[in-house]
Amino acid sequence: STALVWLRNDLRLADNPALFTASKQHDRVVALYVDEADDGLRPTGAAARWWLHESLENLARSLAEIGIALKVEAGKSRDILPAEARGLEAAAVHWNRRYGPKERALDADIKEDLRTQGIAAHSHPGNVLAEPWTVETGQGRPYSVFTPFWKTLRGMDIEHPSPAPKGKAKRSIKVDNGYKQPHWAGKLGQHWSIGEGAAQERLAEFLDESVAGYPEGRDFPARPVTSRLSPHLRFGEISARQIWHTAHAFIHAHPGKAGAVDKFLSELAWRDFSYHQLYHRDDIARVPMQAKFKGLHWRHAPAQLRAWQTGMTGIPIVDAGMRELWETGYMHNRVRMLTASFLTKNLLVDWRQGEHWFWDCLVDADEANNPASWQWVAGSGLDAAPYFRIFNPVTQGERFDVTGDYVRRWVPELASLPDKFIQKPFEAPAEALSKTGVKLGDTYPEPIADLKQTRQRALDAFADLGAND
Ligand code: FAD
Repeated sequence: STALVWLRNDLRLADNPALFTASKQHDRVVALYVDEADDGLRPTGAAARWWLHESLENLARSLAEIGIALKVEAGKSRDILPAEARGLEAAAVHWNRRYGPKERALDADIKEDLRTQGIAAHSHPGNVLAEPWTVETGQGRPYSVFTPFWKTLRGMDIEHPSPAPKGKAKRSIKVDNGYKQPHWAGKLGQHWSIGEGAAQERLAEFLDESVAGYPEGRDFPARPVTSRLSPHLRFGEISARQIWHTAHAFIHAHPGKAGAVDKFLSELAWRDFSYHQLYHRDDIARVPMQAKFKGLHWRHAPAQLRAWQTGMTGIPIVDAGMRELWETGYMHNRVRMLTASFLTKNLLVDWRQGEHWFWDCLVDADEANNPASWQWVAGSGLDAAPYFRIFNPVTQGERFDVTGDYVRRWVPELASLPDKFIQKPFEAPAEALSKTGVKLGDTYPEPIADLKQTRQRALDAFADLGAND
């Protein structure tokens, strides 16, 4: 019999329960990816699309090695899925679950449609450590605070990854997923190796070389100690469960590094917490999770928004982050927080505008992590930073980019500034600047916002909201 496996955010062979089960139960398996254009689903952003299509090519090759063809179709999955299943005379369709409200509703419709046509539809867990509804408080409710969520999650039995399906006869393939590389693809490509094999190598390298320095070094954007697994996780080239169990095996072999690995796993658990919110809350990319934030009067400031997007705000660490994002499709976590805080607090621009820009530019743009993190910084999220904690990007820069290496890398026009002024060229005396060739307002912008005044403006706006209640 034949089974169709509908791949979505799970572009891997190992620990892919849908693929594993289908391969075990049926003698022919066909895999399908739908480049979805369904009503109401959020279209994948540009940088993530680039990653996706590279990843699909990679996956098509690995699937061919075990005799499985990958079809890529563009359109509405509610039409394509049943049509493909019928065309193949498939007895069953398998997929791994996703957790957004719209995606869930769509999947439920398709399941129903397949069933009425006599085709079995099976969904499996595989994309998070624990499915959102299985982590609950003593009262059986969803969590709204991370620390108790993490305490519960870490005490749960996280399912062991399933192996990759056994190989059948190899197929030869012609890979064409209908995607035309954009002109900027080469630039992003210099920074990443894409696919399941690359993700596993990245994890092994991270554990061997970096994890020991992770707890202390993870806040310093010039230090390459974080895993950079986020885009691999975004597309499911590696699963959170694989990371979990590999990390635990690593602890077993290196007990001295247990504390560092635990810190890393607690960060990984934030991803599950975001999915918990995505599952339990209404449209987190649009609706503030704390209702009172609906009343906030965000500023309409297109020129400032543009300066932020292009890394021309005149605040070096903010500009460095925005340029790292543009060049690589990634930004260091600490700098994501600073750039998001600058936009939503200092410029008082709606977090949804920033979320949208990140969505288009990040290779790891994630339907749960991106909006949940933006709401966290803006203050409207669950368990969000208190509204009065407004990052000062200059002092943050002085603390976490002490010698300015990160700024020098991404804002090269400031590279010749001494450490003392690298985070605040606008405070450098004229004679200090003149020796460096930096001319504010000419070679590099004057700050587009006064940090002190805009901080106060944000405090007032948030206090009016009763955000401190
Ligand atoms: P590591 O530190 O090595 O962590 C390992 C994994 O744990 C990450 O890959 C990620 O899956 C998870 N993780 C780590 N930190 C967080 C966190 N704070 N919240 C949720 N999950 C976390 N992450 C995304 O994956 N996609 C996004 O679209 C995204 N948008 C963000 C937007 C803003 C404004 C902020 C402040 C954070 C955002 N994050 C997002 C979270 C975090 O910045 C990235 O996951 C992290 O920087 C990825 O780098 P890494 O893989 O080296 O992380």
